Amino acid sequence: MRHKETLLNTRPKSSSSSFLEQKMQDIDLIGDNHIFTSYETPMREDAFEKNDSQKKQIIEFHFRKIMETLGLDLSDDSLNGTPKRVAKMYVEEIFSGLDPKNKPAISLFENKYQHNEMLVEKNISFYSNCEHHFVPIIGKAHVAYISNGNVIGLSKINRIVNYFAQRPQVQERLTNQIADELAKILDTDDIAVLIDAKHLCVSSRGIKDNSSSTITSYYGGKFKKKDIKKEFLNLSLNCNHDHI
Ligand SMILES: [Zn+2]
Repeated sequence: MRHKETLLNTRPKSSSSSFLEQKMQDIDLIGDNHIFTSYETPMREDAFEKNDSQKKQIIEFHFRKIMETLGLDLSDDSLNGTPKRVAKMYVEEIFSGLDPKNKPAISLFENKYQHNEMLVEKNISFYSNCEHHFVPIIGKAHVAYISNGNVIGLSKINRIVNYFAQRPQVQERLTNQIADELAKILDTDDIAVLIDAKHLCVSSRGIKDNSSSTITSYYGGKFKKKDIKKEFLNLSLNCNHDHI
């Protein structure tokens, strides 16, 4: 069973009649606390009934309303194009990872070099957005696996990180979604993911702490062993490329 390491905030699903009531209380409690409720991004069943251009039109309409409600004069040349720009950015860029059609196609290669040690792809930079406030999460991911006979192109790991980052996210879920996807592709549990990220909802508003960052981790299979975990952490965090 994967997911153990970062299973901090999930609650077991209950089928009792008080489940909805409990859920409503939970939502009230969430407030500024970064609680998330499942490892799957919560999606509506009709999520893909509208095509991208329909979605952009609707978002543009509503974003215009938000700006007008705030009292902004959208006849101003500087603001006039903003709703359209935001809609395009949401659908085509920063939330494009909600749509499985944008998932990177990954091809596997045979592990010809018989490299059976861990492979670490470190300092993968990403931008995501906090699903509680819709402001950026800026971070770095360190990802490792031990080959089970297959390898993937290095840039594909970056693409997987960025695909899942391009959703409204919480960091724990992002960590596990990356690990799960790699485990599926590489057909192994020997996966580790470490994410260190700054949340603008913590630094630019609320508590306004500009120096803290959040670390989440996932260790599967052999990475649960102390020495392997230690090697991964050493490679991820301590190698400064002084030798290059
Ligand atoms: Zn937030």
